[in-house]
Amino acid sequence: MILKIDVQRRGVHYTKNALQVIDPAVHQLRSPNIFGARDARLTPVPDSLLLRDGSSIVVDPTPLERNPYLVDVVDGQLVLTDQGEVLETVDFWSKPDFYDKKTSSGVLMNHVITARPQRINVFPSGFCYFWVNDKGCRFCDVVNHLKQQRAELGIPTRQNPQDVFEAVREALKQPGRFTTICLTAGSDTRGAEPFDQEVDYYIEILQAIGANFKVKKFPSQLVATAFSEKQLARLYEETGLSSYTTDLEVLDEELFEWVCPGKAEWVGYREWKDRLIRAVDIFGRGNVGTGIVGGVETAKPNGFTSEEAALRSTLEEAEHLISNGVNVVFSVWVPRPGSYFKDQKSPSLDYYVRLAKGLHQLRVKYGLRVDFDDYRRCGNHPDTDLARLL
Ligand code: SF4
Repeated sequence: MILKIDVQRRGVHYTKNALQVIDPAVHQLRSPNIFGARDARLTPVPDSLLLRDGSSIVVDPTPLERNPYLVDVVDGQLVLTDQGEVLETVDFWSKPDFYDKKTSSGVLMNHVITARPQRINVFPSGFCYFWVNDKGCRFCDVVNHLKQQRAELGIPTRQNPQDVFEAVREALKQPGRFTTICLTAGSDTRGAEPFDQEVDYYIEILQAIGANFKVKKFPSQLVATAFSEKQLARLYEETGLSSYTTDLEVLDEELFEWVCPGKAEWVGYREWKDRLIRAVDIFGRGNVGTGIVGGVETAKPNGFTSEEAALRSTLEEAEHLISNGVNVVFSVWVPRPGSYFKDQKSPSLDYYVRLAKGLHQLRVKYGLRVDFDDYRRCGNHPDTDLARLL
């Protein structure tokens, strides 16, 4: 996990020899994501890496001048190296069978849904309404990315439910490949009650996906805005959704207001937390979570100046949520070129190791499982990689 964290923190560069190993018929090359990447391009390199124990490293190619790890070939094996030292053998993700197929409307299925080793990703919409008055989260590049890469590729701002139904149906034909379906999109503030339109659209997409199943509930995760109880009850009752995540991003009220001004304006930190806790009554303990952008609490100039203080404060807040049945998971903060925080630096490796251990220990203390977001289903959270030990 330490190696995984640092590879995510520093990124990777594929050597010429590593690129020669790629077989586009077998390996999953980078496909359009809802968020941008550290190299701000969609190069035909492997999507990400797999370690020998089945852990994924979700990682972007990174320009050489930023000192990334190298993915190279040594003695005929694909390996991760640093400063000339071979650290670990790795593998590329294998390409799902549906990837190059088209829906009946002629859209390439990997422009409708994408994949991780065991998860189907659905990005129903690439727009976030917090950006309308320039209040998008400061680490996020979603709308800049939409205008550049996704528009260039001809990916619609909103996915058509029929296309999603067909792409998921095709993906599920591959035996043993997928264990869950994850949906995420930007926030949509519109509606009689704020976010009603976002909820309506998710219901439409989830019902289209659900038409592929004979049972009411299917393994799934929605990563969306903090909805009211009424909205959550609709999502739970009218669809097959089985878990719900709404990201606080940073576990400190003042920093939340600075880092996530749109979320602060429309919901507010305390209400966001309360909605998470109330969601446990609807989805059940262990089926509700919040993501944080690990390390963004040290962003300059308003963040913590000491990593020690940042860690203490973050874990205290996390304990409050975890003790109330809400999972807290982190992803490694990568300052992306399309984001407001593009020139910032993420904290030390040691910080992330302690954050991963701290969150895992809290889950152990409160006996909270995180199966819907673990190393198989997600693979992007060093702390939930440890959840296999629970
Ligand atoms: S809510 Fe924040 S993180 Fe999510 S898409 Fe909008 S700006 Fe980005």
